[in-house]
Amino acid sequence: MALYDKYPVAIFNSLGKKKEKFEPINAPRVGLYVCGPTVYNEAHLGNVRSFLTFDVVWRYLEHLGYKVRYVRNITDVGHLVSDADEGEDKIEKRARLEELEPMEIVQKYTNGFHYVTHLFNLKDPSIEPTATGHIQEQIEMVKRIIDNGYGYEVNGSVYFDVKKFSEKYDYGKLSGRKVDELLEQTRDNLEGGNEKQFFADFAIWKGASENTLMKWNSPWGQGVPGWHLECSVMSTKYLGEQFDIHGGGMDLKFPHHECEIAQSVGADGTEPVRYWMHGNMLTVNGTKMSKSLGNSFLPLELVAGDHPLLDQGYSPMTARFFMLQANYRSTLDFSNEALKAAEKGYKRLMNALKSLNGLSFENQGKTDYGLDDEINKQCEQVYVEMSDDFNTPKAIAVLFELVNKINAFENNQLNLSSIKESTFDTLKKVFNSMVTDVLGLMDESDGESNKLQEVMNFLINMRDEARANKNWELSDKIRDDLSELGITLNDGKDGSSFSIN
Ligand code: ZN
Repeated sequence: MALYDKYPVAIFNSLGKKKEKFEPINAPRVGLYVCGPTVYNEAHLGNVRSFLTFDVVWRYLEHLGYKVRYVRNITDVGHLVSDADEGEDKIEKRARLEELEPMEIVQKYTNGFHYVTHLFNLKDPSIEPTATGHIQEQIEMVKRIIDNGYGYEVNGSVYFDVKKFSEKYDYGKLSGRKVDELLEQTRDNLEGGNEKQFFADFAIWKGASENTLMKWNSPWGQGVPGWHLECSVMSTKYLGEQFDIHGGGMDLKFPHHECEIAQSVGADGTEPVRYWMHGNMLTVNGTKMSKSLGNSFLPLELVAGDHPLLDQGYSPMTARFFMLQANYRSTLDFSNEALKAAEKGYKRLMNALKSLNGLSFENQGKTDYGLDDEINKQCEQVYVEMSDDFNTPKAIAVLFELVNKINAFENNQLNLSSIKESTFDTLKKVFNSMVTDVLGLMDESDGESNKLQEVMNFLINMRDEARANKNWELSDKIRDDLSELGITLNDGKDGSSFSIN
């Protein structure tokens, strides 16, 4: 029996706003599409949280035995600075600012994004398609939308006709917007010169001006595809006309995902997505994380502790653990206190993992059936919680009940031989795979930071010896050379410590 049959998954479907049993169209194959970054600046922690949510969804489904194809795109053209389809392309604007080619901006921030995803141990997607790599398919989709009567051209741009669409279909079904209200906003929001017939209409092709750097030939002249179009095209190209899960941040529900549905139905008459999943925001001391409020964090600022709101640096795995302690559909508040607690929790969990793998089962003693049963039930419960819409906080809480047992075995407060050997095997298997494969937590203590600490201890001891021998030349050289590398030695009464600038 496959694990996915034993622990059937329920997903909260944003479309319909309720939990539903997950039934993939082509089980055991699963198609998962997640809106990736627009690569015009550095990803902040709020973005990381959203991608982490779907990393765990992917990991858990694979763990249950599904074969998941995970597509996460890179938006490298077509995302304009304003949601109202006006203004410059975000990437082009940044290129002018940094005096680089748009494709240099794309490469620079794509590299940066990958660096961050690897830092937080997010697995690379199966396919990472780009908008610029799928221009032809996007043009074809615009044509189908026009042919079906849901698109109109004005001055080389093509807009989706929301009013016409809503006569037959339910525009707003995902986000709960009312078309009548959106149409009413037309008078207030469409200034003279705007090409749209209605406020709710959106660009599926945007004509380019002479100064536009990125543009392609099309039946409507040179231009770029509308932002929402790439995801409609790339998701169905790689996952089929209908596929299982589409994910993204809450802020993408409207207009981005609502428009995706309209485009697919308008072009092909099919609703592409079975389950829509949306991850909630990260807040800072209760307020929304945003650049303009000065409270947005870049991942490296978090790790280095280099931010006015931080008391200290926190490791990537502490941050990963911290984010998994909240349900993905709830907002998560980011504060020093919460991060410090997460740091302790993460270490406690990883220490228990090490203890568990160091324990060896010898002879079966007198079985404590109560204890044996409790451990088996807790191992089952981790799956029950994860299968309940990927409830990581509850699954982690159960793992901590197991941590208590493991620590008691380690300290001989409980007798390991009083449980069955098969129970011990189950405990090892479930605990290891949940912590490492599903939650994706790595042991940082064996990594680079530990090596650095060892090398620094070696140099500090060497310098102490030199100073004891009054070899000032060597002791100064060690201090000065380290300083050139950006490492400062701080001498205190309990010996020297170091800090990295
Ligand atoms: Zn998208």
